Amino acid sequence: MPNMTDAERLLREAGALLRGHFLLSSGLHSDTYVEKFELIQHPAITVQLCVGIAERYREAGVQTVAGPTTGGAILAFEVARQLGVRSIIAEPAEGGGREFRRGFRLDPGERVLIVDDVMTTGGAVRHTVEAVEHHGALVLGAGLLVDRSGGKADARTHVWAALTVDAPSVEPQQCPQCAHGLELTKRGTTAH
Ligand SMILES: [Zn+2]
Repeated sequence: MPNMTDAERLLREAGALLRGHFLLSSGLHSDTYVEKFELIQHPAITVQLCVGIAERYREAGVQTVAGPTTGGAILAFEVARQLGVRSIIAEPAEGGGREFRRGFRLDPGERVLIVDDVMTTGGAVRHTVEAVEHHGALVLGAGLLVDRSGGKADARTHVWAALTVDAPSVEPQQCPQCAHGLELTKRGTTAH
């Protein structure tokens, strides 16, 4: 099972965990950027990180793994494969939140592990928790690759992450790196 250091090394090797001065899609700035698909495009590395999640919950009596689209669905499939259980996908619902479509069923009391890639505000995990509970099933927790909220996001369930980083997102006016005149990078591309 990878420890915290292994997880960080694997993410860095894949180029998925970047340090610098980043303009996020929210318009906020951060010193950390996680490009999850730099990792997920490499199955061999992704599988190693999924081992950490699967081992953490191996004795938890997981019956089904649920992952929100897009990255979470891929990781849920692999964690479910390792645990020998079913995996289902939570998709965005029309009125907000998430739901299970495509004929996916959950029984009342069914023990469900949620898996996702990167948690920032906790919205995707929270909405998947609500979708599982809508069916009367039991959420055992959420296993993540990266919690970039430093443990502060409201996921509505217990969270275990292979790597936790405290990467606050700040308004440009409050950004210490702007104050130091450091060059701003927009999602891997230098902003001009
Ligand atoms: Zn800045």
